[in-house]
Amino acid sequence: MLDVFGRCQVQDDVKPVTEMGVYPYYHPVEQRLADGEVVVGGRVLVSVGSNDYLGLSADPRLKDAACRAVRLLGTGTAGSRMANGSLTLHETLEGRLAAFLGQESAMVTPTGFLANLVLSALVGPRDTVLADQLIHASLIDAVRLSRARLRRYRHNDLDRLAGLLAECDPAAGALILTEGMFSTTGTLCDLPGTAGLARRHGVRLVLDGAHDIGLIGPGGRGTAEHYGLEPAVDLHTLAFSKCFGTTGGAVAGPEQIIVYLRHQARSMVYSAALAPSSTAAALAALDIIETEPERRRRALAAAARLRADLSGLGFRTETSPTTIIPVYVGDLLLCCRLWRELFDEGVLATAMVPPAVPDGQALIRVSTTALHTETQLDRVAAAFAAAGRRLGLIP
Ligand code: PMP
Repeated sequence: MLDVFGRCQVQDDVKPVTEMGVYPYYHPVEQRLADGEVVVGGRVLVSVGSNDYLGLSADPRLKDAACRAVRLLGTGTAGSRMANGSLTLHETLEGRLAAFLGQESAMVTPTGFLANLVLSALVGPRDTVLADQLIHASLIDAVRLSRARLRRYRHNDLDRLAGLLAECDPAAGALILTEGMFSTTGTLCDLPGTAGLARRHGVRLVLDGAHDIGLIGPGGRGTAEHYGLEPAVDLHTLAFSKCFGTTGGAVAGPEQIIVYLRHQARSMVYSAALAPSSTAAALAALDIIETEPERRRRALAAAARLRADLSGLGFRTETSPTTIIPVYVGDLLLCCRLWRELFDEGVLATAMVPPAVPDGQALIRVSTTALHTETQLDRVAAAFAAAGRRLGLIP
């Protein structure tokens, strides 16, 4: 028999990256400082690699809520929601999320990844899922698990989506799956166009709001609110690991669908429920999301400033109005070298290489939070200028 362990070698491209000392992953953070800076390898770095856009993960109100929940309910849930892991705290959070998003019902999951995996229960082998090329791995895995046919269209390419919809078998099911705010490019979904096509073809629209819920829209209700199209979204998935400053996820939609998923989604039925601390922290975060819109404005203003600095320096990026700024590099090795140069300059960013991005489209992902100060942003821009010039990426 072939030894399956023997096949498990690290990818070929990891070796040169490691040998050159520019491997950009699994660097443990030793400490997070109050102003959002991090300590890595004993050095204090400005972090522009965080999804904690509202700067809530170290907020005293979230910490207090989490500690109170631990004292009252313990550190774990001791079972799945369906068995004996359900808490009134989960139900409170579900009610609040459903009301916040204007949906009938919601269901909390242990992670955002699992919230998306739940979707595998919605479709089966005869159905087609039409999805944007840039959707997150967890959405792709949900479709794989369901054994539905996955057809992807170029990012926001509505002509192609219309073509794929026209090719669908009217006797089978179909679903459009996309994200409100895309995690690598920071671009928003063309929701008006996508929702229009969904309506015209009588197809349900599912939106992953992991990054945009809490951040985008005047009330923080996401891309759907930004476009005034909340009723057009049939089902929303969420992740608490971004704007909510903790971990966990949720699905929000019609009562009938949530009840169905509670019983049929294997990642819900067979995985232990979200910990009390994370549930309480998410509730405290929702209070802040609903009452402190200035946090969204600060995080977005920081991104607008840094985006202007980086494109002014000659880096290629996007113009989208979000907290994520992709700095396109292209070549994987060059991307890792830029990551390392930034690290040496005191800046912690994120290198995104295939398969997280399409081949040849490696990029440095920069993200801003409500905590970033002008001085920190100056340091980031200066680091990019120095590193980019050394590598010949900018004039
Ligand atoms: N959806 C998207 C768009 C994401 O970017 C991520 C994670 N970055 C997830 C879902 C999964 O969320 P979590 O990390 O909370 O499991």
